[in-house]
Amino acid sequence: MAKDYYKILGVDKNATPDDIKKAYRTLARKYHPDLHPGDSAAAEKFKEINEANEVLSDEKKRKNYDTYGDPNGGMGGFGGAGASGFGGFGGFEDIFGDIFGGFGGSSRSRAQTKTKGEDIIVELSLSFLDAAKGCRREFSYNRNEPCKSCNSTGAKGGTAYKTCEKCGGTGQIQYTQSNGFFRSVNVRPCDECRGTGKKVIETCPDCKGKGFNKTTTKITLDIPAGADTGSYIRKAGFGEASKNGGAPGDLIVEMKVEPSELFKRKNFDLYVEVPISLRTACLGGKIKVPLIDDTIDYTIPEGTQSGKVFFVRGKGIKSSRGTGDLYIVVNVEIPSRITKEQKKLLEQLENCSDIKQTPKMRKYKDNVEKMYGKDPYEN
Ligand SMILES: [Zn+2]
Ligand SMILES: [Zn+2]
Repeated sequence: MAKDYYKILGVDKNATPDDIKKAYRTLARKYHPDLHPGDSAAAEKFKEINEANEVLSDEKKRKNYDTYGDPNGGMGGFGGAGASGFGGFGGFEDIFGDIFGGFGGSSRSRAQTKTKGEDIIVELSLSFLDAAKGCRREFSYNRNEPCKSCNSTGAKGGTAYKTCEKCGGTGQIQYTQSNGFFRSVNVRPCDECRGTGKKVIETCPDCKGKGFNKTTTKITLDIPAGADTGSYIRKAGFGEASKNGGAPGDLIVEMKVEPSELFKRKNFDLYVEVPISLRTACLGGKIKVPLIDDTIDYTIPEGTQSGKVFFVRGKGIKSSRGTGDLYIVVNVEIPSRITKEQKKLLEQLENCSDIKQTPKMRKYKDNVEKMYGKDPYEN
């Protein structure tokens, strides 16, 4: 018996599977190679811990180990060990993932050395007409801009760097991971050069070696006609600079369109509410209806009811993605204050039978009378 696995994990021979799991997790976290870069003693210890766990966490292997001092039941042979080694791999991955989970980021995402900078979202308020017609807007926002003097390298002049000795310029460090009988070769980004393969000789004085600078960026945007609340424009590369030499993020400009007193819109269709007089409603007449860039003359036919909607094709918002229609919503204005003289005139008007009772009113009267024998207008 070469090694005392119980001693390695710090548990006694009667330890339950739970005790073993707990002890393993604690020790694996403590000696994980990521926490001890370049420390070969810790790496060896980590290897040992994994080996012990692989045997003691497997019921069959533990029994063999307890009985024969050999997890493979004394038969040895690479085949059996290899096969069972793979069997234990799944469990190892679980715990491995767990460990990395605790420190944020897996080994896989760390291996992607260059990351894109973050996107910046800016909200842009537009008047109803500017959004409908399209407009040009200039505005400023704050961001970390890639450093121009060093081309984001952080090195003075952008060229004052040498090949990193630690990784030989590859930006990656190979390391061997061992889980008992199973070994794997992995790569991680070089910590010396942040995965770039290059080392700065003289730091860029403008960005102090960061590769980016805090600036206020001024931008001019052409907003296309028909922009609406929720639509956005993406300007690639105008977001935050990458923290490790990758591409900058994007600027996302979100539109917020202010409401209008005259118009409402539904996609590219335009709705205009037009109040008309009692006289125009009865006799008809011409009115001017506003559009986005002009007005049109519209003839209200005689006998127009309040709430009537007139439709004019192609007079809505014109955009590169389509042209909307115009909807004229008519509201008949009833005067709320009338003089004695006006009152007299209205009463005279009522004496003409067709005005006193329109066809719709007569129908209503018939229906109420059929049900209850009462005239709804007789009061
Ligand atoms: Zn390196
Ligand atoms: Zn710089």
